[in-house]
Order: sequence, then C-alpha cells, then structure tokens
Amino acid sequence: MARSSLATAWLALTLVASATPTLAASAPAAPTPIAAPASPAGSAVGPLTEFPYTPSLDSASMDTSVDPCVDFYQYSCGGWMKNNPIPSDQASWSVYGKLYQDNQRYLWGILQGLATGTAERTAGQQQIGDYFAACMDEGAAEKADLTPLQPALARIDALQSARGLPALIAELQLSTGSGGYFFSFGSNQDFGDSTQVIAFTDVGGLGLPDRDYYTDKDERSTKLREQYAAHVARTFVLLGATPAQAEKQAATVLRLETALARASLKRVDRRDPYKLFHKLDRKALQQLTPGFDWTAYFAVLGVTDIQAVNVTEPKFLQAAARLWKQTSVADLRSYLRWHVAHASSSNLNAAMEAEHFAFYSRELRGVTEPKPRWKHCVAAVDGLLGDALGQEFVRRTFGPELKAATLQMAKGIETAMREDIEQLDWMSAPTKKRALEKLDAIANKIGYPDQWRDYSAVRIVRDDHFGNVARATRAEVQRDLGKIGKPLDRSEWSMTPPTVNAYYNPQMNDINFPAGVLQPPLYDPKLDDAPNYGNTGGTIGHELTHAFDDEGRQFDAAGNLKDWWAPEDAAKFEERAQCIVDQYAQYVVVDDVRINSKLTLGEDVADLGGLLLAHMAWRAATANQQLEPKDGLTPEQRFFVGYAQWACENDRPDNQRVTAKTDPHSPGRYRVNGLVVNMPQFEEAFVCKAGQPMVRKDRCRIW
Ligand SMILES: [Zn+2]
Repeated sequence: MARSSLATAWLALTLVASATPTLAASAPAAPTPIAAPASPAGSAVGPLTEFPYTPSLDSASMDTSVDPCVDFYQYSCGGWMKNNPIPSDQASWSVYGKLYQDNQRYLWGILQGLATGTAERTAGQQQIGDYFAACMDEGAAEKADLTPLQPALARIDALQSARGLPALIAELQLSTGSGGYFFSFGSNQDFGDSTQVIAFTDVGGLGLPDRDYYTDKDERSTKLREQYAAHVARTFVLLGATPAQAEKQAATVLRLETALARASLKRVDRRDPYKLFHKLDRKALQQLTPGFDWTAYFAVLGVTDIQAVNVTEPKFLQAAARLWKQTSVADLRSYLRWHVAHASSSNLNAAMEAEHFAFYSRELRGVTEPKPRWKHCVAAVDGLLGDALGQEFVRRTFGPELKAATLQMAKGIETAMREDIEQLDWMSAPTKKRALEKLDAIANKIGYPDQWRDYSAVRIVRDDHFGNVARATRAEVQRDLGKIGKPLDRSEWSMTPPTVNAYYNPQMNDINFPAGVLQPPLYDPKLDDAPNYGNTGGTIGHELTHAFDDEGRQFDAAGNLKDWWAPEDAAKFEERAQCIVDQYAQYVVVDDVRINSKLTLGEDVADLGGLLLAHMAWRAATANQQLEPKDGLTPEQRFFVGYAQWACENDRPDNQRVTAKTDPHSPGRYRVNGLVVNMPQFEEAFVCKAGQPMVRKDRCRIW
C-alpha cells in the first residue's frame, strides 16, 4: 500500500496485517538504508544543516537524445541514471533513496547536536541524543563483545522441554521485538469490526526474505540456500560452537525454517484479506495448537485477558505446533540461538555485523561495502523513538504553509476522483453510491501526527547501547500489545514524520503523507503546478486509488472487510484488472525474471489511477490560467516529466532478483512506461504516433 519499497518492513506491514504486524523490528527483508554516491564515499559524507535543492523537474536528469514516444522513462531519467551510480554500500539507488539519505544526514546533524551540545535539553531531546551517542560508541560495542547476548542465550540454554517454549518465545519477542521465533504476535484492527483492536498471530520464523527461497529449485535459489546455511554456521561459530557443531546446527535451522516456509501462504495469496481472516476464541486457539500453553505465553507478554485472536494462517500455526512436538530440545535451542543472534546482529560487535553484511547485503543483494555506523544509528532512533526525533524534524522543515498547500492538493485530487467515479461507464449507480461514501470517509493525514507519542517511561542512558535497544524495543512491543481489547485510535500513524514514503491503510481508510516525502525534489514549492501535480499529485492519487484497488476495494467506508459491490460490477472490475495483470506480466525485471504481476497488481492499479486523477486535478486547478512552455517543454509535457522523475533509479541485478520475489511495486521503468502507454493524454502531449512503443492499442483503464 506504500508508494515505494523504501519503508522498512515493520512499518509497511502494519497494513492489512501482512507478515509480522509490529514485532519484526529487525525483519531480515528490511531494505538497507542509503549511502552517498561513489564519490564522495559513503563514510566521508557529513551531516547536513540545510537540504541541497533539486527541483521537482530537472532537465539535467533527462536524456533528450531519446524519443519520448519510444522510451519515456529513458527520456525523463536517462541523465539521472548516468549521473547517479549506485553507491558502494547500497543495493539500489533512486530519487526516493537519495532524498531519504538527505533526510538521514539532516537528522544526523540534529542528533549530533543533541548528543554533544551543552544547551539545555528537553526530556525527549535527552533521549534521542543519548541513544544516538551510545549507538555511535563503536569502542564500547567492541569491548562488550557478545556479553549483551548472554542473558537471552542463557534462557535458551535453560530450556528443558517443549513445555517451556511458550514462556521463552514470549520473553524473546519482548526483548528483541523480532518475529523470528516461529511466529509473530501483535495487535491489529479486527477485519470484521474496524473500531476494535484485537490480537493477531502471524507467520514468522524465517531468516530468508520470502518463503519461496526455501522451496524454489532454480540454480540461484539453491546456491543462496547454501550461502545462507554457511552464514548461519559462521554465526554459530562466533557464538562459540566448533565448526562441526555449527554445520550441524545450521542444517537444523534450515530444516525447521523450510518446514515453516512450506506451511506459509505465498505472497500473492496474502493479498486476499479473506485468506488472513480467522478469528478464534481462546478455546479454539488452544485446540488449533495442542501442547502449546497460550496461557503461559500470554502471562509473560502481560496480556492475560485476551478473548479473541485472529490467526492469519491457521495451517502455519498448526505446522509450527507439530514442529514443537517433534523436534528435540537441542534442535529447538539451536533454532532460537540463531534467531536471537540474527535479531541483534546490528547492535553487537564488528565481527557479528560483518557476518550479517556478508550474507544479507553482499551475497543476497550484491552490495560491496557496509554502510557507515551513523546511518544505522539514525535509522535506529527513527525506528524506536521516531516521534521524539520527528518533532525535531518537523519543527525545522515542515511549516503550516506547506501543510496547507499539500492538503489543498489532496482535496483537489479527491474532487477529481469523485467526478471520475460519477462518470465511470462500467459501474452501476448503487455501487457508485457506496464508492462515493467510501471516498468521502477517507481521512487525510499530512505531515505528522496530531499527538506525539510519549516515551517518558523508556530509560535511555549514554553508556549502555544494548540496554537502550532492549528497553526501547520492549516499550514499543508493550505499547503495541497495550492496544489489544481497546477501541481503535484513529489518529495513529504507521510511518514516522521523516519517512520518504506514503501509504493508504484500508482498515483505517486514511491516506498518510509524512513530512519527509513532501520536500523537493518530490514536492517543490518553488516550481509551478505542472511538475508538482505530476509528482506529488501522482503520489496522492496513488494512495487514494489504493482504496479501490484489488485489495482495498474489499474494505468498506468504515474499514470493515465487507463486500459492497454489486456482483456484476465486481466482475467488470476483475476484467479490467486482468488487463493490467496481462500487461505487466510481459515486463522483464532482470535477465529471464519477469514481473510477478499478480503481486504488483495493487500498486500498478494505484499508479495508473493516481496519475489519471492527478492530471484531472491539475487541469481543474489551472483551468483559468494561461500556461506557458518552459525550457522547451509544454505544460502538458512538464506534467508527465515531473511525474516520471520521481521514479528514476538504478538497481543491482542481484537486488532486482530479490525485489522481483518480494516487492509489490514494479520497477521504476515500468511505473512510468507502463502508465503512459495507457494514457491518451500522454500520446497527445508528446504528439506520438500509433504504433510507437509508448502508444498501446488496447489500453487498460479501471479508474
Ligand atoms: Zn502503493
């Protein structure tokens, strides 16, 4: 549901209860944050006190030697791709990624000031400043070696039988926030009653980025499994095992994870919310997993009065319960030891961090250099104390004029959507009425939350990094669990203010634009409407359209999973969606890997609808203006180039293979070319001719 794949997994996945609702603070699939261009080297870059300005339409990023009617992405982004090689510590590089790095460098400056300054600090400033200072102390991490892990490892070693598992898993989830211990547990809105927050169990327990990595038989997947097993074994050696023991233990880990993977739904199936909706009472939950004492598990989590649990994947939990019964205690300990080390690797000594990098960044994604420590530390403050840091960011970067201007744009795009729905020739009047009710109910959240989260109960000290991580993680897990059994708080956000991304949440029925995404070169107050409507307008339209994509359309105005479509309208929607599935299935990601267009359908639908709506809204907003050409481009052309330039990117082939399996977004090239081929407005703007590559004969259109 997010605009880009930049969001770390645990943030993006709070939507529709995808894998690991909120517990996976250290989910393996989290994309590595961003570094500087190859020159200057990532580690040589300093903090920013001001943002470098890049306009939302930059002619230097274009390649005008290319015919826009032949390859519009290359025409709009060719210069950018040439001028922005992938930094050595990055898996990929993009306009979003670059802005994310700028935001990170800016936050770095704020945090450094708070960590070292002598000025009086508020309680929140003390927390984020001291967290950052402790995190940056590489010497202390080295000196601590693996001692911070010892309490968790000792608990695992004390496991005597499978009867002790529930309490042990609960304690590990609390202390590391990870969904890596067989399954994940957290809170989410009830699919059937969106006003209530209930408990959710979800899949988890894997070290590779997707279940398919365990089952795919192609050469690359087989090799990756071998490399993964070798990485797990080397980690066991670091924990003190002999090489022979380590190899055996790694084989155990792979065996257990493969069993869990086989029992997990495929990513495409998880796009169907009905497949994830199984609300059980306590008795039914207990019957599903005989032998696993949920009362003991809940007691350690501190959530004793749980009445109902939505088990997203009952078959998965049953398979886990079988494993708990059949597996020896020694093997269970090996599995848990690996996942504790894995969840903590970025906060331990250099050897553990290097080992993590060797597999997850170099072998899996083709990255050549680890990212500098400050990036990890900035991201950690944002992840665990995000609202305290977000306040500092918003105060400096996001004024009321910007909020008003972007809110006005959102309202214009909503008006366009209303007109669009009213005009649709394939939808019947009763379904239109309910679609408009849903549109009217969508809440717009712009910039930052109305109420900041309070971290005053979290003790942060300057000389105990691992302790800070553990305390802040526990507080975050407990905050999430504390929502169970309570009415929904509609004001909550699932992205922090500096985040360069946006999202629609179908259960909240709201669109959310953090301050971090409303800055140049995405939203550019210095430029005219054409590129801004193309770029940020396209993003707003994208999130709005998610309310009516293949997944979002299944939720009603109140956010309940409830069918409000007349059957013949639903059939017509499916038919139109199939046009997009067929179109994107043709596109190649890398080598012989094509887009899994059933996985990307929601994003592709949102991209196309979003740009059409932005175009309508832009035309309406400028109806009374005399628009002039600029830099050799007509206003219409500037709208489309402004759109395309949000998506400029470079990607490593290894990383492309990972994202082809895991990312619901299509590559940037097709997020541009795949849309314009469907838009007569584009054909007209660039005076393209029938038969040219950017002109499609049978155009797809839903919204
Ligand atoms: Zn999206």
